[in-house]
Amino acid sequence: QPGLYIVATPIGNLSDLSLRAADILKRADLIAVEDSRVTAKLLQHIGIKRPMIAYHDHNADYLRPQLLPRLNHEAIALVSDAGTPLISDPGFKLVRDARQSGAYVTTIPGPCAAIAALTLSGLPSDRFLFIGFLPPKENARKKALEEVAGIAATLIFYETSPRLISVLTSLHQILGDREAAVTREITKKFEECQTAPLSELITHYQEKPPKGELVILVSPANKKTEIGEDEVKALLETALKDHS
Ligand code: SAM
Repeated sequence: QPGLYIVATPIGNLSDLSLRAADILKRADLIAVEDSRVTAKLLQHIGIKRPMIAYHDHNADYLRPQLLPRLNHEAIALVSDAGTPLISDPGFKLVRDARQSGAYVTTIPGPCAAIAALTLSGLPSDRFLFIGFLPPKENARKKALEEVAGIAATLIFYETSPRLISVLTSLHQILGDREAAVTREITKKFEECQTAPLSELITHYQEKPPKGELVILVSPANKKTEIGEDEVKALLETALKDHS
């Protein structure tokens, strides 16, 4: 069927490509990719060759109007270099415009570093906030962190290893010494997950600067410390009962 197929691909271990993802890639008329060398390796792994077109931040605005009409008669798969397209990767506007144009749009879900890291970390997984990459400049980064400091949800950040220490330091300064996790190289040979208070993670990685791709997670802000009116009433009632 013609339309747009959003295809998640592995984040390190090629065996994580789903059977359905492989099937769609085999049958796609065209694959929109970030970097054709990266996707060529994946296609080689499943023994296929398909036409590819580079769709990335620098040419997306120019390319999108050309791709949209093609969705009516071609099956176009959208992949990124790793993981789920649109998640800190290009594709959001393509999906939005494809839907608006009435094209068929579907997803082939699969690996996503944020979700993989959350499940590995041992931090609360019931409520979480994906923040992606923080601004690289310290002031903007701190401002972004102040905005989320009070949120009672596990916070998830993408980062590159050279910036790890400076980001952990900002997290510590703005959020306090919360329990946190650094997960690296997920699904790869040197997969690692370190869970500790932020101050300890800073000391640990200062001694041993990490390599590779990583996700930082920070435990939720403490629930409200002020006591609500109902709680005051209940406490008073208990105290009075105990007293009588
Ligand atoms: N779309 C991707 C996804 O679904 O996870 C994310 C793309 S984003 C450009 C790349 C970032 O994802 C890296 O800087 C890192 O924070 C994270 N990442 C990707 N693969 C990873 C892995 N195997 N282990 C840890 N983090 C990873």
